[in-house]
Amino acid sequence: MKRDIRYIVVHCTATPPHTQISSIQNYWQTKLGWKNPGYHYIIKRNGEVVMLQPESRVANGAKGYNEHAVHVSYIGGVDATNKPADNRTDEQKQTLFNMLISLSERYPSAVILGHRDLPGVIKACPSFDVMKWLATYEPVLNPD
Ligand SMILES: [Zn+2]
Repeated sequence: MKRDIRYIVVHCTATPPHTQISSIQNYWQTKLGWKNPGYHYIIKRNGEVVMLQPESRVANGAKGYNEHAVHVSYIGGVDATNKPADNRTDEQKQTLFNMLISLSERYPSAVILGHRDLPGVIKACPSFDVMKWLATYEPVLNPD
């Protein structure tokens, strides 16, 4: 069944940059007791995308919004002292940009925003201004 997607939500994992996806999944399952993953897609430091949940199913990224959201995250988002920091690699930026374009084509009525931009959310996630970035981003890497 196709879900009614209204939000395309960008996140960071808020972990050290080289955290393994398996340890993030382990945290969700054992510490938070989640049955669903926190994101549909996660973007590794090298720009590779890993799908954790099909878009047709709910992921747990933003309480109160998940029913109508697709969640995309990059690994990183905090500095060595755990403070919010936009430390995306060029590869992550490029992949994120391409993913947001293709998601917005598939869900034309959905809005793209950062987790922190959702009403009622008090978080730094994803550690940058998504709308401002999208408006000014220019790819720096060569295709393939
Ligand atoms: Zn988030």
